[in-house]
Amino acid sequence: MAVKKNLYTKRESGRAMDEVRPMTAKVGVVPSADGSAIFETGKTKAIAVVRGPRTLHPQHMQNPKNGVLRVNYGMMPFSVEDRIRPGPNRRSEEISKVTEWALSSVVDLSEFPNTVVDVFIQIPQADAGTRVAGINAAAMALAHAGIPMKEMVSAIGVGKIDKSLVVDLDKYEDSLFHDGEGSTDIPMVFTSRTKNLALLQLDGKISIPEFKETIELAKKACEKILVVQMEALKNVNGENGAPKGVPLEGNNG
Ligand code: ADP
Repeated sequence: MAVKKNLYTKRESGRAMDEVRPMTAKVGVVPSADGSAIFETGKTKAIAVVRGPRTLHPQHMQNPKNGVLRVNYGMMPFSVEDRIRPGPNRRSEEISKVTEWALSSVVDLSEFPNTVVDVFIQIPQADAGTRVAGINAAAMALAHAGIPMKEMVSAIGVGKIDKSLVVDLDKYEDSLFHDGEGSTDIPMVFTSRTKNLALLQLDGKISIPEFKETIELAKKACEKILVVQMEALKNVNGENGAPKGVPLEGNNG
């Protein structure tokens, strides 16, 4: 049987297969909030704002042993070419939930029973990878707010386009390929010190060896993202000032 040729061997952006888009990150972008951050990767921008801990109402939703982390993700109406209807939809609710799960694995709210910490993530400009950009921004905003965290998290999408594994898909890549083996996008979140997977979403076809390779590619990309996140947090309190939430020591190793 003839071996089918790979239909995606060169990236449209000119990036190497394992290359992330240029990134920038900054904290304190919303001075009235308890914590805030912006994370940009290529044309995708995510802003995260943290409010809390504050007493959770209604009272029956309170947890007397732990604070509650609540995440709200949304895309702004003109973040993509077609206008997006404002307000929640199935996609935004799913992304809010999975972001909450990923962040809950590192946030420690045991000191704040009966309270809530709200994280609002907004996407002013989307070019794929918004959930992972939102998680990167939210983790920084939580650290900036001084919320106790066991470690940081960094997030990236790794995809498979026909037979090629690619890191950090943009919109062109995300929506382009239906030919050959099609396109699969796997958002992943890694914890900074213990290197545990805090989130993985997979919708598509991938073999076990390829899947193992995507995990390694994502881990390496997350190390680069972590450097950008920590650099932005370091600048908050001056050169040697650790952010309140996350000890700088031990997060890069
Ligand atoms: P993610 O943004 O995390 O990659 P998706 O895979 O659901 O999540 O979306 C991929 C990209 O498709 C988004 O980043 C955005 O550029 C675009 N997109 C998502 N929802 C819409 C929509 N309702 N209208 C137009 N474009 C959209």
